[in-house]
Amino acid sequence: MNLEQTDPKIYELIEAEKQRRRDGLEMIPSENHTSPSVLEALGSILTDKYSEGYPGKRYYGGNQVIDRIENLAIERAKQAFGVPFANVQPYSGSPANFAVYLAVCNFGDTIMGQNLPDGGHISHGWKVNITSKIFKSVSYHVKSDGYIDLEEVRNLAVENKPKLIWCGATAYVREFPFEEISKIADEVGAYFVADIAHIAGLVIAGAHKSPAPFVHIITTTTHKTLRGPRGGLIMVTEKGLKKDAELGEKINKAVFPGGVQGGPHNHQTAAIAVALGEALKPEFKEYGKQIVKNSKKLAEGLMERGVKLVSNGTDNHMVVVDLTPDGPGRGVFLQDALDMAGITVNKNTIPADPSTPFYPSGVRIGTPAITTRGMKEKEMELISDWIARVADLIKNYKLPGTKEERIEYLKRFKSEIENNDQIKKIKSEISEFGKNFPIPAIN
Ligand SMILES: *Cc1c(COP(=O)(O)O)cnc(C)c1O
Repeated sequence: MNLEQTDPKIYELIEAEKQRRRDGLEMIPSENHTSPSVLEALGSILTDKYSEGYPGKRYYGGNQVIDRIENLAIERAKQAFGVPFANVQPYSGSPANFAVYLAVCNFGDTIMGQNLPDGGHISHGWKVNITSKIFKSVSYHVKSDGYIDLEEVRNLAVENKPKLIWCGATAYVREFPFEEISKIADEVGAYFVADIAHIAGLVIAGAHKSPAPFVHIITTTTHKTLRGPRGGLIMVTEKGLKKDAELGEKINKAVFPGGVQGGPHNHQTAAIAVALGEALKPEFKEYGKQIVKNSKKLAEGLMERGVKLVSNGTDNHMVVVDLTPDGPGRGVFLQDALDMAGITVNKNTIPADPSTPFYPSGVRIGTPAITTRGMKEKEMELISDWIARVADLIKNYKLPGTKEERIEYLKRFKSEIENNDQIKKIKSEISEFGKNFPIPAIN
């Protein structure tokens, strides 16, 4: 019996999601399209098994095969990132980061990371996150040109003596200054951690500088540019082991039994091993480099058409559109209008955002998933034209001041845009165009 027969409701919803993807372009920078092989491992019977502990040291019997799978994932992670230690069990990026805190900090310690509206991640001490409640959190910012303010990083570090400094973000378009911040971290004796959740695939491909020589610990997700299943990795570098020879052991204990999670998701571990195996092939280098070429081309295309970008360009896989020239808090309009036209993106804060994280003033647009579909510079020209046309259509919509007004206004906005002939035309153009670029596990 297969799903279609046993649970037609879920089966049909999965089919509907496939169709949604065929009809559109996935341009959320943190998303990608996994390979059939990754999905095969992820959907395997490995999910049935309990294996709390680590290879050779389990709390359950019957883990002879699981040990070999986890060891393979570990070896591939070490090889891909050039590090001597890897833990492949984190369920996702946020638990991986939390395990790092548990491994090297005590509650009440000071930690430092990039401010969330400036592109930083919620798990690096943002005010609504538990990390800001159990640690004293200090945030650094980006300058008006979109680059991390290194002078501020140094001043804050010297003043606050953080135990841990993060470098890594969720909406940052420039290369991360790992080397520069490592000098600051060394000066104040802090653990320096690179969170490369977004750029992991670019690092493996050599399309972004590796943090490995400069940081003590590297965390990442496995489902963004790395193109694997949802999951996380924590790695310790040579530099990290030099600072603390026990660091790997401390990370392992923090992941389990320290309190972050229980039994590892073995199907996920196997799928991560498959994704890392794919990432170690020469084609992946080409893929990573093409992601950046596409993103740069997209940035050019958009700016030529009058769309303002944070930092006036990009070094990586994403651009951040700054919609403030037509008023604050307008990210939601472009996100929803593009969604109706068949381009999936997400609203995002911009540096010094005059609005709030729920009604931010920008939109993030990324190229990892469309590059997986085989699109190149030529296609970026077309896509930037569609995006610029949609951006033009929403120019006159302004975000009202109060919550009640906003809800009403957004309802009206949605129905107007949905019925807009231009949007309908772009939607059918995109759906036709997409047929030439099949999605690996779907078409
Ligand atoms: C996506 C992301 C994470 C968290 O990943 P989840 O898997 O969603 O928990 C952590 N850090 C950064 C910088 C990210 O972009």
